[in-house]
Amino acid sequence: MSAVIQQIEMGKANSYLIEAKNGYILVDAGMPDQVDIVSRFLSKKNADLEDIILIIITHVHYDHVGSLAALKEKTNAEVLVHKKEKELLENGKTEFPEGTVFISKIISKLSNLISESKFKAVTPDITVDDYYDLKQYGIKGEIIHTPGHTGGSISVIINGEDIICGDTLFNFMPHSVYPPFANNKDELIESWQKIKSYNCKRFYPGHGSIFTEEKFIKTLEKKLQ
Ligand SMILES: [Zn+2]
Ligand SMILES: [Zn+2]
Repeated sequence: MSAVIQQIEMGKANSYLIEAKNGYILVDAGMPDQVDIVSRFLSKKNADLEDIILIIITHVHYDHVGSLAALKEKTNAEVLVHKKEKELLENGKTEFPEGTVFISKIISKLSNLISESKFKAVTPDITVDDYYDLKQYGIKGEIIHTPGHTGGSISVIINGEDIICGDTLFNFMPHSVYPPFANNKDELIESWQKIKSYNCKRFYPGHGSIFTEEKFIKTLEKKLQ
């Protein structure tokens, strides 16, 4: 029961499709008007939107929930989110996260001044806390709470060695996977240490391409110095 993970490029952020026993699990739901991207991706596998049985939201930011309302309507899938982000999802808006370095601090301040990040509100079906097992979907999968980027950020570990980590890690730079935005930097590093304890081999970030354990460990060691 080794589940396969595939990356779907949604323009700004990545979504991931996991093959489960009775259908597909989608992780994150892109920007608005991106349902067609998911639908086209599925049709290449001779599947359609109705084959999605669960949508996991790594965290409630507009670039990860933009097409969630439309996808939920077309798939009938259950939506899973951390309990700390349930209200944000139901209200349909979030604040731009805080910057972690000089330039992103400015971007964050400006973004919050200019506009609110709005999206179509969704009522989740499942809320999780510290840990959630995905065995009922016929896969070896677990969800862990990894706060820092936001208070209710979660990561999905598949087969004990692949981790879909949302914006807890960013793969934009050649030598670092530290996110440019995080509401709580201390919590973020605690979550990184928690992730390290799982010894995952491959990392599937919300932004950028898939990377290996080595790059994660190197960035963590630098941050701990
Ligand atoms: Zn993002
Ligand atoms: Zn984010």
